[in-house]
Amino acid sequence: MNQISLKGLKIFGYTGCLPEEKQNGQYFIIDIDMFFKSIPGALTDDLNDTVNYAQVYERVETLVKESKFDLIEFLARKIGCTILDTQPLTNEVRVTVKKPDAPVDGTFDYMMTTITVKRREAVIGFGSNMGDRKEIIEEALRRISGHPDIKIKKLSSLYETEPVGYEDQDDFLNGVAVIETYLDPYDLLHFLLKTEDDLHRVRIIKNGPRTIDLDILLYEGFNEQTRELTVPHPRMYERAFVLVPLKQVGLYDGRIPDDKAVSLAGEISLN
Ligand code: AMP
Repeated sequence: MNQISLKGLKIFGYTGCLPEEKQNGQYFIIDIDMFFKSIPGALTDDLNDTVNYAQVYERVETLVKESKFDLIEFLARKIGCTILDTQPLTNEVRVTVKKPDAPVDGTFDYMMTTITVKRREAVIGFGSNMGDRKEIIEEALRRISGHPDIKIKKLSSLYETEPVGYEDQDDFLNGVAVIETYLDPYDLLHFLLKTEDDLHRVRIIKNGPRTIDLDILLYEGFNEQTRELTVPHPRMYERAFVLVPLKQVGLYDGRIPDDKAVSLAGEISLN
Protein backbone atom coordinates (compact mmCIF):
# COMPACT_ATOMS: atom_id res chain seq x y z
CA MET A 1 0.00 0.00 0.00
CA ASN A 2 1.33 3.48 -0.88
CA GLN A 3 1.32 6.01 1.92
CA ILE A 4 1.74 9.73 2.62
CA SER A 5 1.87 10.88 6.23
CA LEU A 6 1.76 14.09 8.24
CA LYS A 7 3.17 13.54 11.73
CA GLY A 8 3.12 15.54 14.93
CA LEU A 9 0.77 18.37 13.89
CA LYS A 10 0.37 20.58 16.95
CA ILE A 11 -2.97 22.40 16.77
CA PHE A 12 -4.91 24.33 19.41
CA GLY A 13 -8.58 23.34 19.69
CA TYR A 14 -11.63 23.05 21.93
CA THR A 15 -12.70 19.37 21.79
CA GLY A 16 -13.33 17.77 25.20
CA CYS A 17 -16.17 16.68 27.48
CA LEU A 18 -15.54 19.19 30.26
CA PRO A 19 -16.88 22.76 30.02
CA GLU A 20 -13.40 24.18 30.78
CA GLU A 21 -11.92 22.24 27.85
CA LYS A 22 -14.48 23.80 25.52
CA GLN A 23 -13.86 27.20 27.13
CA ASN A 24 -10.07 27.32 27.47
CA GLY A 25 -8.95 24.87 24.78
CA GLN A 26 -5.72 22.87 24.66
CA TYR A 27 -3.11 21.55 22.23
CA PHE A 28 -3.78 18.37 20.26
CA ILE A 29 -1.00 16.38 18.59
CA ILE A 30 -2.20 14.75 15.38
CA ASP A 31 -0.72 12.07 13.12
CA ILE A 32 -2.25 11.36 9.72
CA ASP A 33 -1.48 8.40 7.44
CA MET A 34 -3.14 8.47 4.01
CA PHE A 35 -3.18 5.27 1.93
CA PHE A 36 -3.45 4.97 -1.84
CA LYS A 37 -3.98 2.21 -4.39
CA SER A 38 -1.44 4.15 -6.44
CA ILE A 39 0.11 7.63 -6.41
CA PRO A 40 0.50 8.79 -10.04
CA GLY A 41 2.94 11.51 -8.87
CA ALA A 42 5.45 8.79 -7.97
CA LEU A 43 5.78 8.26 -11.76
CA THR A 44 5.17 11.78 -13.11
CA ASP A 45 6.91 13.98 -10.50
CA ASP A 46 3.92 16.37 -10.81
CA LEU A 47 2.28 17.92 -7.72
CA ASN A 48 -1.12 17.69 -9.44
CA ASP A 49 -0.79 13.89 -9.40
CA THR A 50 -0.55 13.50 -5.66
CA VAL A 51 -1.83 14.87 -2.35
CA ASN A 52 -0.74 18.38 -1.54
CA TYR A 53 0.05 18.01 2.16
CA ALA A 54 -0.02 21.78 2.69
CA GLN A 55 -3.73 21.69 1.74
CA VAL A 56 -4.36 18.74 4.06
CA TYR A 57 -2.63 20.57 6.93
CA GLU A 58 -4.77 23.68 6.35
CA ARG A 59 -8.05 21.72 6.36
CA VAL A 60 -7.15 19.78 9.48
CA GLU A 61 -6.04 22.97 11.23
CA THR A 62 -9.35 24.72 10.44
CA LEU A 63 -11.40 21.72 11.60
CA VAL A 64 -9.52 21.28 14.90
CA LYS A 65 -9.51 25.03 15.67
CA GLU A 66 -13.20 25.54 14.91
CA SER A 67 -14.86 22.43 16.34
CA LYS A 68 -15.98 21.77 19.92
CA PHE A 69 -16.74 18.05 19.93
CA ASP A 70 -16.87 16.01 23.14
CA LEU A 71 -14.65 13.12 22.03
CA ILE A 72 -11.25 12.91 20.34
CA GLU A 73 -12.57 9.74 18.61
CA PHE A 74 -15.25 11.85 16.94
CA LEU A 75 -12.70 14.54 16.02
CA ALA A 76 -10.34 11.90 14.58
CA ARG A 77 -13.09 10.41 12.40
CA LYS A 78 -14.15 13.88 11.20
CA ILE A 79 -10.55 14.60 10.19
CA GLY A 80 -10.46 11.31 8.24
CA CYS A 81 -13.77 12.04 6.47
CA THR A 82 -12.70 15.60 5.57
CA ILE A 83 -9.50 14.27 3.99
CA LEU A 84 -11.39 11.61 2.01
CA ASP A 85 -13.92 14.26 0.89
CA THR A 86 -11.21 16.55 -0.47
CA GLN A 87 -8.52 14.12 -1.67
CA PRO A 88 -10.02 11.78 -4.28
CA LEU A 89 -6.77 9.83 -4.72
CA THR A 90 -6.83 8.69 -1.08
CA ASN A 91 -8.92 5.65 -0.24
CA GLU A 92 -8.05 5.16 3.41
CA VAL A 93 -6.95 7.48 6.23
CA ARG A 94 -5.66 6.61 9.69
CA VAL A 95 -5.83 9.47 12.19
CA THR A 96 -4.26 9.57 15.64
CA VAL A 97 -5.23 12.37 18.03
CA LYS A 98 -3.22 12.78 21.23
CA LYS A 99 -4.15 14.95 24.18
CA PRO A 100 -1.00 15.70 26.21
CA ASP A 101 -2.90 17.98 28.61
CA ALA A 102 -5.97 15.80 29.16
CA PRO A 103 -7.73 16.79 32.40
CA VAL A 104 -6.59 13.78 34.38
CA ASP A 105 -4.79 14.01 37.71
CA GLY A 106 -1.56 12.06 37.24
CA THR A 107 1.62 11.69 35.22
CA PHE A 108 1.39 10.64 31.56
CA ASP A 109 2.69 11.51 28.10
CA TYR A 110 -0.73 11.78 26.49
CA MET A 111 -4.14 10.16 26.06
CA MET A 112 -4.81 9.14 22.44
CA THR A 113 -7.10 7.47 19.96
CA THR A 114 -6.54 6.05 16.48
CA ILE A 115 -9.41 5.87 13.99
CA THR A 116 -9.28 4.53 10.42
CA VAL A 117 -11.79 5.71 7.81
CA LYS A 118 -12.11 3.92 4.46
CA ARG A 119 -13.72 4.95 1.20
CA ARG A 120 -15.55 1.88 -0.12
CA GLU A 121 -17.90 1.17 -3.02
CA ALA A 122 -21.11 -0.74 -2.25
CA VAL A 123 -24.33 -1.59 -4.04
CA ILE A 124 -27.75 -1.21 -2.46
CA GLY A 125 -30.76 -3.07 -3.88
CA PHE A 126 -34.17 -1.50 -3.30
CA GLY A 127 -37.77 -2.56 -3.84
CA SER A 128 -41.32 -1.49 -2.99
CA ASN A 129 -44.80 -2.89 -3.64
CA MET A 130 -47.06 -0.81 -1.37
CA GLY A 131 -48.36 2.74 -1.61
CA ASP A 132 -46.82 5.16 -4.12
CA ARG A 133 -43.93 2.83 -4.88
CA LYS A 134 -41.89 5.26 -7.00
CA GLU A 135 -42.24 8.12 -4.50
CA ILE A 136 -41.29 5.85 -1.56
CA ILE A 137 -38.19 4.58 -3.39
CA GLU A 138 -37.20 8.14 -4.30
CA GLU A 139 -37.67 9.26 -0.68
CA ALA A 140 -35.51 6.36 0.57
CA LEU A 141 -32.79 7.29 -1.93
CA ARG A 142 -32.99 10.97 -0.92
CA ARG A 143 -32.42 9.92 2.70
CA ILE A 144 -29.52 7.70 1.67
CA SER A 145 -27.85 10.44 -0.38
CA GLY A 146 -28.50 12.92 2.48
CA HIS A 147 -26.27 10.89 4.80
CA PRO A 148 -22.92 12.73 5.20
CA ASP A 149 -20.95 9.49 4.74
CA ILE A 150 -22.74 8.23 1.61
CA LYS A 151 -22.62 9.45 -1.98
CA ILE A 152 -24.77 7.90 -4.70
CA LYS A 153 -22.51 7.37 -7.71
CA LYS A 154 -24.91 5.62 -10.09
CA LEU A 155 -28.59 4.67 -10.18
CA SER A 156 -30.27 2.06 -12.33
CA SER A 157 -33.68 2.60 -13.89
CA LEU A 158 -36.78 1.30 -12.10
CA TYR A 159 -37.95 -2.17 -13.08
CA GLU A 160 -41.39 -3.66 -12.53
CA THR A 161 -41.29 -7.30 -11.38
CA GLU A 162 -43.67 -9.99 -10.31
CA PRO A 163 -43.31 -11.03 -6.64
CA VAL A 164 -40.93 -13.89 -5.81
CA GLY A 165 -41.58 -16.33 -2.93
CA TYR A 166 -44.95 -15.13 -1.62
CA GLU A 167 -46.96 -14.52 -4.81
CA ASP A 168 -50.33 -13.21 -3.57
CA GLN A 169 -49.27 -9.56 -3.54
CA ASP A 170 -48.80 -6.63 -5.91
CA ASP A 171 -45.90 -6.27 -8.31
CA PHE A 172 -42.69 -4.63 -7.13
CA LEU A 173 -40.63 -1.75 -8.40
CA ASN A 174 -36.93 -2.60 -8.03
CA GLY A 175 -33.54 -1.15 -8.81
CA VAL A 176 -29.99 -0.71 -7.55
CA ALA A 177 -27.82 2.20 -6.40
CA VAL A 178 -24.02 2.21 -6.54
CA ILE A 179 -22.69 4.18 -3.61
CA GLU A 180 -19.40 5.33 -2.15
CA THR A 181 -19.39 5.27 1.64
CA TYR A 182 -17.24 5.82 4.73
CA LEU A 183 -19.58 3.63 6.82
CA ASP A 184 -18.45 0.09 7.57
CA PRO A 185 -20.83 -2.69 6.39
CA TYR A 186 -22.62 -2.99 9.75
CA ASP A 187 -23.12 0.75 10.22
CA LEU A 188 -24.43 0.89 6.64
CA LEU A 189 -26.86 -1.98 7.41
CA HIS A 190 -28.10 -0.26 10.59
CA PHE A 191 -28.68 2.97 8.69
CA LEU A 192 -30.64 1.13 5.97
CA LEU A 193 -32.76 -0.73 8.55
CA LYS A 194 -33.52 2.56 10.28
CA THR A 195 -34.47 4.14 6.95
CA GLU A 196 -36.85 1.20 6.29
CA ASP A 197 -38.41 1.73 9.73
CA ASP A 198 -38.71 5.48 9.20
CA LEU A 199 -40.58 4.78 5.97
CA HIS A 200 -43.00 2.56 7.92
CA ARG A 201 -41.72 -0.79 6.78
CA VAL A 202 -43.63 -3.54 8.60
CA ARG A 203 -42.64 -7.21 8.56
CA ILE A 204 -45.68 -9.48 8.89
CA ILE A 205 -45.20 -12.14 6.23
CA LYS A 206 -41.74 -13.33 5.12
CA ASN A 207 -41.13 -12.01 1.56
CA GLY A 208 -44.53 -10.28 1.88
CA PRO A 209 -45.73 -6.80 0.86
CA ARG A 210 -43.51 -3.91 1.95
CA THR A 211 -43.29 -0.16 1.51
CA ILE A 212 -39.54 -0.36 1.12
CA ASP A 213 -36.84 -3.04 1.18
CA LEU A 214 -33.19 -1.96 1.26
CA ASP A 215 -30.45 -4.60 0.97
CA ILE A 216 -26.68 -4.48 0.79
CA LEU A 217 -25.95 -6.50 -2.35
CA LEU A 218 -22.20 -5.92 -2.55
CA TYR A 219 -19.60 -4.15 -0.40
CA GLU A 220 -16.01 -3.69 -1.61
CA GLY A 221 -13.61 -5.96 0.28
CA PHE A 222 -16.34 -7.54 2.46
CA ASN A 223 -17.39 -11.13 1.77
CA GLU A 224 -18.77 -12.53 4.97
CA GLN A 225 -21.66 -14.46 6.34
CA THR A 226 -22.60 -13.59 9.92
CA ARG A 227 -25.81 -13.85 11.90
CA GLU A 228 -26.62 -10.23 11.09
CA LEU A 229 -25.24 -9.69 7.62
CA THR A 230 -24.40 -11.73 4.53
CA VAL A 231 -22.61 -10.04 1.64
CA PRO A 232 -22.81 -10.64 -1.28
CA HIS A 233 -26.54 -10.85 -0.61
CA PRO A 234 -27.33 -14.59 -0.45
CA ARG A 235 -30.05 -14.75 -3.09
CA MET A 236 -28.97 -11.99 -5.47
CA TYR A 237 -27.60 -14.28 -8.19
CA GLU A 238 -30.97 -16.11 -8.44
CA ARG A 239 -33.01 -12.93 -8.88
CA ALA A 240 -33.54 -11.33 -12.26
CA PHE A 241 -34.91 -8.17 -10.59
CA VAL A 242 -31.47 -7.66 -9.01
CA LEU A 243 -29.31 -8.85 -11.90
CA VAL A 244 -31.04 -6.81 -14.64
CA PRO A 245 -30.42 -3.42 -12.91
CA LEU A 246 -26.97 -4.60 -11.78
CA LYS A 247 -26.11 -5.32 -15.41
CA GLN A 248 -27.39 -1.86 -16.38
CA VAL A 249 -24.90 -0.16 -14.00
CA GLY A 250 -22.06 -2.30 -15.36
CA LEU A 251 -21.51 -4.57 -12.35
CA TYR A 252 -22.79 -7.87 -13.71
CA ASP A 253 -22.06 -9.67 -16.91
CA GLY A 254 -23.41 -13.17 -16.39
CA ARG A 255 -26.56 -15.13 -17.11
CA ILE A 256 -29.93 -13.75 -16.03
CA PRO A 257 -32.61 -16.27 -14.97
CA ASP A 258 -35.84 -15.82 -16.94
CA ASP A 259 -38.39 -17.23 -14.46
CA LYS A 260 -40.07 -13.87 -13.73
CA ALA A 261 -40.89 -10.95 -16.03
CA VAL A 262 -38.75 -7.85 -15.40
CA SER A 263 -39.77 -4.81 -17.40
CA LEU A 264 -38.43 -1.27 -17.55
CA ALA A 265 -40.69 1.10 -15.56
CA GLY A 266 -39.09 4.54 -15.79
CA GLU A 267 -36.31 6.61 -14.32
CA ILE A 268 -35.61 7.76 -10.76
CA SER A 269 -35.62 11.46 -9.97
CA LEU A 270 -34.08 12.68 -6.70
CA ASN A 271 -34.90 16.38 -7.14
P1 AMP B 1 -35.31 -8.16 4.88
O1 AMP B 1 -35.70 -6.77 5.31
O2 AMP B 1 -36.43 -9.11 4.78
O3 AMP B 1 -34.44 -8.06 3.65
O4 AMP B 1 -34.37 -8.72 6.05
C1 AMP B 1 -33.58 -7.87 6.78
C2 AMP B 1 -32.68 -8.67 7.69
O5 AMP B 1 -31.77 -9.44 6.94
C3 AMP B 1 -31.88 -7.72 8.57
O6 AMP B 1 -32.28 -7.87 9.90
C4 AMP B 1 -30.42 -8.10 8.36
O7 AMP B 1 -29.78 -8.36 9.59
C5 AMP B 1 -30.47 -9.36 7.51
N1 AMP B 1 -29.47 -9.30 6.41
C6 AMP B 1 -28.53 -10.24 6.17
N2 AMP B 1 -27.78 -9.91 5.11
C7 AMP B 1 -28.27 -8.72 4.63
C8 AMP B 1 -27.90 -7.86 3.55
N3 AMP B 1 -26.87 -8.16 2.72
N4 AMP B 1 -28.61 -6.71 3.37
C9 AMP B 1 -29.65 -6.43 4.20
N5 AMP B 1 -30.05 -7.19 5.23
C10 AMP B 1 -29.36 -8.33 5.47
